[in-house]
Amino acid sequence: MIKATSIYKCYDNLEVLKDVNLHIKKGEVIAIVGPSGSGKTTLLQILGTLDKPSNPEKHTLEINGMSLNKISDKELSKFRNQNIGFIFQFHQLLPEFTALENVCIPAFIAKKNKNEVENKALELLERLGLSDRIHHKPNALSGGEQQRVAVARAMINDPAVIFADEPSGNLDSNAAKRLHELFLELREELGQTFVIVTHNKDLAQMADRTLIMKDGYLLNEK
Ligand code: ADP
Ligand code: MG
Repeated sequence: MIKATSIYKCYDNLEVLKDVNLHIKKGEVIAIVGPSGSGKTTLLQILGTLDKPSNPEKHTLEINGMSLNKISDKELSKFRNQNIGFIFQFHQLLPEFTALENVCIPAFIAKKNKNEVENKALELLERLGLSDRIHHKPNALSGGEQQRVAVARAMINDPAVIFADEPSGNLDSNAAKRLHELFLELREELGQTFVIVTHNKDLAQMADRTLIMKDGYLLNEK
């Protein structure tokens, strides 16, 4: 599902990622842990094609069978929209749109049929326990609800993988637990692949594998 080799990233003289290699299968839930500043967000942004490694010629990145290091930015945007979902620490929902509208936007960008998109968004929101929140705007939702809307938005285009960067970092422990259980349910029900950066020990423990970011390398948990 995801294969990355020799990912290198530096900012000026700071080498953040020295040689990151990673292989993730479909339906795996992977946790990435590591100290603050160790490069977890940088890695997730690169895997999610939002940022590029500093060694364009020498790395490889393949997601869902598509080799991504040599395609144009336009093709990359299209690929990202259709194959990758993102969940951030702060939900990053658009404040002036309702929950339903926020969920639909990535599918409208993909030029899908309006009615089909709305029906699917409604199904997803119902599946995530948000049926009575669909017309609320983000600031009228709790933190846990906002994150579940973000999950629905991440899933609207049936992505090959969802990348989540500290998704429960801003939630109380109950809402965090509920969100983590949701990830596992979506994996069981739909075979959804997740790569999750987290400081939450419970979440890391629930994952199939935990990888540790340290000194520019991604190591398997001992
Ligand atoms: P983490 O998510 O593990 O806390 P980050 O990937 O955000 O770590 O950052 C890793 C290192 O790279 C940090 O030292 C950070 O200051 C630096 N860094 C991140 N983004 C930039 C940037 N755009 N410009 C310069 N330095 C950056
Ligand atoms: Mg980070």
